[in-house]
Amino acid sequence: MRTAVVVGAGIGGLAAAGALARTGWQVTLLERDDRVRAGRTALVLWPNGIRALRALGLGDGLDAIATALPDMGVRRPDGHWLVQPRPAAGDRTPVVVHREDLHDALVAGLGDQVEIHTGVSVRSVRVGSGARPAVSDGRLTVEADLVVAADGIDSAVRRRMAPESTVVSSGCAAWRAVIPWYRAPRLPEDRPVSGETLGAGYRFVAASLGERGSSGGSSRGGIYWVATAAGAPRPEPPATQLALLRRWFAHWPAPIGDLLAATEPDDLVQQEVRELRPLPRAYGFAAGTGGVVLLGDAAHAMPHHLGQGACLAFEDAATLRSVVREAVPGRPLQEAVEAYSRLRRPRTVTVVRQTRRMSAVLQTRGRLALRARDAALGTINPRLMGSAATAAAQWNPPA
Ligand SMILES: Cc1cc2nc3c(=O)[nH]c(=O)nc-3n(C[C@H](O)[C@H](O)[C@H](O)COP(=O)(O)OP(=O)(O)OC[C@H]3O[C@@H](n4cnc5c(N)ncnc54)[C@H](O)[C@@H]3O)c2cc1C
Repeated sequence: MRTAVVVGAGIGGLAAAGALARTGWQVTLLERDDRVRAGRTALVLWPNGIRALRALGLGDGLDAIATALPDMGVRRPDGHWLVQPRPAAGDRTPVVVHREDLHDALVAGLGDQVEIHTGVSVRSVRVGSGARPAVSDGRLTVEADLVVAADGIDSAVRRRMAPESTVVSSGCAAWRAVIPWYRAPRLPEDRPVSGETLGAGYRFVAASLGERGSSGGSSRGGIYWVATAAGAPRPEPPATQLALLRRWFAHWPAPIGDLLAATEPDDLVQQEVRELRPLPRAYGFAAGTGGVVLLGDAAHAMPHHLGQGACLAFEDAATLRSVVREAVPGRPLQEAVEAYSRLRRPRTVTVVRQTRRMSAVLQTRGRLALRARDAALGTINPRLMGSAATAAAQWNPPA
């Protein structure tokens, strides 16, 4: 039987492990943490990510947990529109999901065919001619026909296979929270929760997860928000960070103040935003009689401004499943991992380029620069602000 070892049980690793197991691979999943755990907040999935999940056979699970996210446009902190909301366009509507719900759906997709080892922090990769590749934490060594590196932005496997790619700061920090419905502010009917506001070096995005009082949809409903600020993460305790956020976003349009007032320090998840520069030269490598592939943030970590990181990880998993479905060890598998790289790298380069343009917009400071930015946003609205939707529309799972 063909064997694969997947390193990392994040969103990408879980999706890939389940996909390979369902196509007849014997899969071992290695996770550094002492258990396989989900993130505490939520995610926006654009249509490309949704299509990838459907291609992976996880569409029903997604339908049970997703809340449609209407386009609410982009405002300036003074309430003026930078980009007017546009009507929902068929299958271009993104959805928002709680990470724990998504995690449960991905774990359910593993079935009982995946052998999971937790507490294994892979430190080395062995690739040599004539032998199968192998990974090891110094105690446990797992050899397999295919190594899937899904070990996130600090990937040990990528450091070995693509040392040219390094992790750098994106120059901003992000804070996220989900306010459960029982604590969420009661907003007037005419004040939509969802929406995006963009100021000089600051951005605030909010979305409803399910509906207040509804037992359907997300089992972990509430209001999800993400705040981004240019600069380094804050070293202060969460209560002080929350006080800072309330100060930075004071006087921004409703309901931002209400949402921050309803947030408790324990809800906050702060993260330094980092990215890979340059991207690895390839995402797939022939290795002895098998191959090694990079997937998800291990391959193409990027700032979250377009909300595409997890979506691309699902695209990776769907593509990998398609190219290795029939591949057997030896030349066919080596060709399959090279095909994976050829399919995935140009696609992610395009999305990273769009994300970097958004980074530049977010970090615009100074009155003149701001005016130029606002004018640019107004005039090239469909090209720039709609770029995520465009990127989304451009991807379809391989046959
Ligand atoms: C503020 C913010 C908002 C975001 N919003 C969105 C969004 O709305 N939509 C979207 O699509 N994306 C979004 N993203 C991006 C998304 O969260 C990531 O792209 C995605 O989680 C990456 O998943 P992954 O499985 O590749 O990596 P990770 O989630 O980092 O998982 C890696 C796993 O590997 C394990 N691991 C690490 N090293 C080792 C090792 N040596 N050995 C074994 N195991 C190891 C880790 O413990 C972890 O479980 C956002 C990111 C941020 C920061």
